[in-house]
Amino acid sequence: MEKMKSLIEKLEKERMLSKGEFLTLLTTISEEDTLFLRERARQTARRHFGNKIYTRGLIEFTNYCKNDCYYCGIRRSNRNVERYRLTKEQIMDCCGQGHGLGFRTFVLQGGEDGTYSDEDIVDLIHRIKADYPDCAITLSIGEKSYESYLKYYQAGADRYLLRHETANEDHYRRLHPENLSLKQRKQCLKNLKEIGFQVGAGFMVGSPYQTTEHLIEDLFFIKELDPEMVGIGPFLPHHETPFAEENKGTMEQTLLFISILRLMLPNALIPSTTALGTVNPLGREQGILSGANVVMPNLSPTIVRKNYELYDNKICTGDEAAECRFCLDGRMKKIGYELAVDRGDYQKAEQHIKKQIY
Ligand code: SAH
Repeated sequence: MEKMKSLIEKLEKERMLSKGEFLTLLTTISEEDTLFLRERARQTARRHFGNKIYTRGLIEFTNYCKNDCYYCGIRRSNRNVERYRLTKEQIMDCCGQGHGLGFRTFVLQGGEDGTYSDEDIVDLIHRIKADYPDCAITLSIGEKSYESYLKYYQAGADRYLLRHETANEDHYRRLHPENLSLKQRKQCLKNLKEIGFQVGAGFMVGSPYQTTEHLIEDLFFIKELDPEMVGIGPFLPHHETPFAEENKGTMEQTLLFISILRLMLPNALIPSTTALGTVNPLGREQGILSGANVVMPNLSPTIVRKNYELYDNKICTGDEAAECRFCLDGRMKKIGYELAVDRGDYQKAEQHIKKQIY
């Protein structure tokens, strides 16, 4: 349809659409136009990153969490999960293994676990930076005070992932208990940006009660925040949560949003997530072909992996770090891409253009 093609071209050119235009796009796009959108998004990623895919070594270092998010498998109320914490030495071992495998970014992710004090996190950042000065550190440990974030940044952490989950107040209420608020979540993201982190926002696609209007609000929120990274993946139910019986998000809808986000934020770091690889065996490849440019294989010790199950049937929980790396290597090669041994920092648009000119 010509009208749809021109909408997609407008999105590419202006990097944004109005609410009404997004609604038209999301509710009436045909399969053929979806392929056109995907192609534009893929070309945009190619222009900025070539055929290189950045990798992040994900270390899930604790599954203790004080929060009780209704969607999450490691929520506090789940009594049927074996809780674990990695020691600093175990975390350092993961980094050592990861470095040997070519990872130059480590992502420390966990539940909100008060057992690790700010001093513990700072010490960990110092140790990793001392041993691996060529690596970037990304934290993904939830909502903290401005002062805590500042301490982590000053210690040398480079990036912070904190998905906003949904930008709509009512929807946020339906996914989280009373003590958590969207206002607070957004304030954290603002603080992280102000401090100087490369910041990652994001949301689940197809989460319970989500409407197309909510998703459009997510796009507007992301446009306004202008994050360096955007992580999205399909919602997948976990059997020990209140959402056990809810429908999962689809690969197709997630891919559509990856493409839209790529056109909105051409130089953003957008991962093809594990959840996408869980909903479909070729989901991560499809994510890359739809405009994503990052993969985040797991570096956590195999013995704890199955306990960091945010949703059912999570992939790669039985593999060693090296297996994950080589498996992804092969998967990317098959579709014409290569994993980069690179920190893979966010680069402002001007730097990209300069690179092309000189
Ligand atoms: N405690 C950290 C890390 C959360 S886990 C924080 O609060 O930021 C990382 C992400 O996994 C979450 O932000 C959420 O978007 C996603 N996630 C959690 N449960 C999920 C589920 N059931 N299906 C899909 N994604 C889920």
